[in-house]
Amino acid sequence: MQVCDITNISRGSFHDGPGIRTVVYFNNCSLRCKWCHNPETISKDNEILYIKSKCIHCGKCIEICPEHHKAAGDSMEFFREGCIKCGKCADACPAGALNISGESYTPERLMKEIRKDKHYFEESGGGVTFSGGECLLKPQFLREVLKMCKAENIHTCIESAFHVPFENIGRVYELIDFVFADLKIPLSQKHREYTGAGNELIIENIRKLSQIHRNITIRIPLIPKVNDSMEDMKDFADIINTFRGGVKAVELLKYNYLAESKYEILGKEYTKFSDSTQSDAYVQSLVSALKSHLTRDLQVFSK
Ligand code: SF4
Ligand code: SF4
Repeated sequence: MQVCDITNISRGSFHDGPGIRTVVYFNNCSLRCKWCHNPETISKDNEILYIKSKCIHCGKCIEICPEHHKAAGDSMEFFREGCIKCGKCADACPAGALNISGESYTPERLMKEIRKDKHYFEESGGGVTFSGGECLLKPQFLREVLKMCKAENIHTCIESAFHVPFENIGRVYELIDFVFADLKIPLSQKHREYTGAGNELIIENIRKLSQIHRNITIRIPLIPKVNDSMEDMKDFADIINTFRGGVKAVELLKYNYLAESKYEILGKEYTKFSDSTQSDAYVQSLVSALKSHLTRDLQVFSK
């Protein structure tokens, strides 16, 4: 039976495709972007999240697992080393301070969740967006769910970093109405430095998909002093110019500097690239620069 760990199902999004979207976050990613906004989805294993401010110091987790939980003043210290992520402490926590990310779903169970929002999809022209983590690392599971969505006339979208074998994409692309393809850093060596892998496979995959799919938007997350200079826009355009007609638009995403708390509750180190986001005026100048280097008339916009 196909099963997949899903980290979160977020309802009512306006940013992840047309209309009102339900966004399904898959566990596991093949990249390690230093600015990742969803660090709880990176690992293929579940994660234990500890929100210290919610702890009411009841001591239940200490009773269950004294090796990893110790009383500390008016809260509890969580020692992660050696934790097997069984989730027993999270199940026992009455305050929602300890949680386990990731739950196993069959395609049918996930479909049941998606179906709950059908009314909003119909009213708004929305649908479901599969994100992550990397949804294309589970192509068989994704295919099953996409088939069910199509059978019920639900609009489908994926958001992917495309660092997967093309075979995975080939198994699902016909069932996807709208694609967000992330392009992170134009130069491969720098891409490797900041994400853990070069960008050749990603570019090749988007290029191939742009020949056979008709509705792709390239998404570029703007990271201060990493990929947000005028020169970077020229380098991005040189790559985008090699894509075929399936690429219809490019979206520049302003830097999100608010992800730090997510790293804290996961006990992971956070890399901050700036205390603020790029100004509207600066991003508009990047949009103009990118447009000026494109050889096709693509829609270029920012968020
Ligand atoms: S997840 Fe399991 S092993 Fe880890 S701290 Fe909680 S109870 Fe202990
Ligand atoms: S079970 Fe939850 S509320 Fe109780 S001490 Fe542990 S973390 Fe705090």
